[in-house]
Amino acid sequence: MGLWAKFKARKNRCHTCSVDGISGKLIGRFPNLKPIEPIKFGNLYQCTKCGHFWFLPEHKAFLHRIRDEILPLAQAWKEGEFFVGNDILGVLKEIGGVENYYKDQIFVPCSVIEKSGIRAEKAIILISKNPPYNWPKKELIHWADEITSVQISPFALPHNVRKASMEKREESMGFSPVGIIDDNEEEYTLGCQSHFFDFKGVKGKDVRLSGREKKWKKVVFPGTADAYYFVDWFDGCEKLLSAEWRNNDVR
Ligand SMILES: [Zn+2]
Repeated sequence: MGLWAKFKARKNRCHTCSVDGISGKLIGRFPNLKPIEPIKFGNLYQCTKCGHFWFLPEHKAFLHRIRDEILPLAQAWKEGEFFVGNDILGVLKEIGGVENYYKDQIFVPCSVIEKSGIRAEKAIILISKNPPYNWPKKELIHWADEITSVQISPFALPHNVRKASMEKREESMGFSPVGIIDDNEEEYTLGCQSHFFDFKGVKGKDVRLSGREKKWKKVVFPGTADAYYFVDWFDGCEKLLSAEWRNNDVR
């Protein structure tokens, strides 16, 4: 805690800290990166040369540098407890979540109304073992306790489409296509991991998997969500939110 408070971002990062991530297998080659303390499911590291902080997740496949502008948020995550009530969990269960490759984050797309009255139409509730450490815009990061209520978003893709999109590996750099088709038999291709669909009036709720496996049609890359709400990983969340019965769901 004291260490976090004392941290002052140095303008010049050392050579090690000029990159965003290091393979977990190579940590031993960077003696300047020292483990400091556990934070929830992972471990916090700090660079002895320039003071920057790093996060090692439970899976230990990568050590991630916590970007300077995200650091206060990572600290708030470490110090806070973020959970939602049973009423909200009930809606999330209905929508269904998909786990990432490392099975340490579950994404549930929905629409959120905040205590401030703000409505995020394309929101992701992120049940996470990891703090935010590298995020395109820090303004998109929010906490579970900002949520008043959650609803199904018309832009959210059906659960089996999201699952297929999450599990699809890259065919080429940044391109992991999944074919979908809308109610008018128009085909599209999700260009990479997608939770929402909003393209020329066609919404997530209007599409289903096409089964196409090559000769991809009309590639659509997803825009960013309006907001991400962090919820702490809790016992049984995978089972609750990625319910087995959904594997037989034929939408
Ligand atoms: Zn450094």
